[in-house]
Amino acid sequence: MPKRSIRDLPVAGRRVLVRVDFNVPIEEGRITDDRRIRSAIPTIRSVLSRGGRAILMSHLGRPEGQGFEADATLRPVAARLAELLGTPVGFPSEDCIDAKAAGAVQAMKDGEVLLLENLRFHKGEKKGDAGFAAKLAALGDAYCNDAFGTCHRTDASMHAVPMAMKPRPAVAGFLLEAELKYLQGAIAGARRPFVAILGGAKVSDKLAAIRNLLEKVDVLVVGGAMAYTLLKAQGVAVGASRVEDAMLGEARSVIELAREKGKRLLLPSDHVCGKALEAGTPTSPVTGAIPEGWMGLDIGPSTSKEFGDAIRAARTVVWNGPMGVFEMPPFDRGTREVARAVVDATAAGATTVAGGGDTAAAVEAFGLAEKLSHVSTGGGASLEMLEGRHFQSLDALDEA
Ligand code: AMP
Repeated sequence: MPKRSIRDLPVAGRRVLVRVDFNVPIEEGRITDDRRIRSAIPTIRSVLSRGGRAILMSHLGRPEGQGFEADATLRPVAARLAELLGTPVGFPSEDCIDAKAAGAVQAMKDGEVLLLENLRFHKGEKKGDAGFAAKLAALGDAYCNDAFGTCHRTDASMHAVPMAMKPRPAVAGFLLEAELKYLQGAIAGARRPFVAILGGAKVSDKLAAIRNLLEKVDVLVVGGAMAYTLLKAQGVAVGASRVEDAMLGEARSVIELAREKGKRLLLPSDHVCGKALEAGTPTSPVTGAIPEGWMGLDIGPSTSKEFGDAIRAARTVVWNGPMGVFEMPPFDRGTREVARAVVDATAAGATTVAGGGDTAAAVEAFGLAEKLSHVSTGGGASLEMLEGRHFQSLDALDEA
């Protein structure tokens, strides 16, 4: 069911408690990538421009939950947000639920915004503690979830807080709305042919996604290191490629599942191999069996062509995981070519969604992010969505 949107919430004069995902990388007090802050701006602006008061809350890093820690403070995030919004952002206290924070919230005027300190300075956040949630819940007249990257978790601010606030409204922010529209929507309402592309390091990480997607797609394309476990399970020699031997049984059963369901499972037929996983390693193109001492580090040109043809013919594409060691040229080539095929499919009218930290980073690095229908901000959350998992945090939001 679609969720009620921040767009439809009257906010004038109201305190809107917004759960954002400001878990950004910070090195020596400097934010090295502010995408997560920027992606929450439309929701924040929507509250402020309509005369609402925005109280923002987030976690950052993995503090112990024993109070303030200087290296996990959200203070630099408040400063960056103020620059991006062009308006002051309050940062009242080192404790998100103390009297100082509550007092600052009480003193807010319409159109003002403040950021509470790191929720994870309290153990209650990870534990979903009701007492902690009640204190946060008291700060708002309405709740808004715009933290897609944390939606697969049941931390207090994601679930217990909106539950404690009922019958006050609980809505989805614009970022969450877009993520759900594309990730859930692309899968549930897929136009055919529906092609899923999976890659990355480990088949064990993606097994649940493979099984769920095999129920839905027409074609499943698998590249990256995880393909070598599937190839070995089929009896293909993979040399020194990265293989999870403990997963060979599972790999066989997935291959069998694809056959039973009549789904096309595309695996690499040629490879760009290296001697070691290091820059400057000697490389060799290999078709079929990989000789001893060589490891497959990227898909080869025939595979790129075969994968690309399937992708270009698709009306729906969902992609999670690189096709090779994309961080280390020349092994970025297969991932680049797959990205280009996804861009071509988009231009031809397909709905295309890329998700997962590495895939989003690769697509951004290639300068192609704007040319897909959607690039998901959530790593773990977007993979769990491909697994078809139920998100309890979403149950807490009002239906549209
Ligand atoms: P994941 O986090 O599961 O999406 O995996 C991404 C990582 O898998 C990246 O760091 C890639 O370098 C790595 N990777 C992809 N293909 C291979 C390969 N053929 N051999 C070794 N590592 C790979």
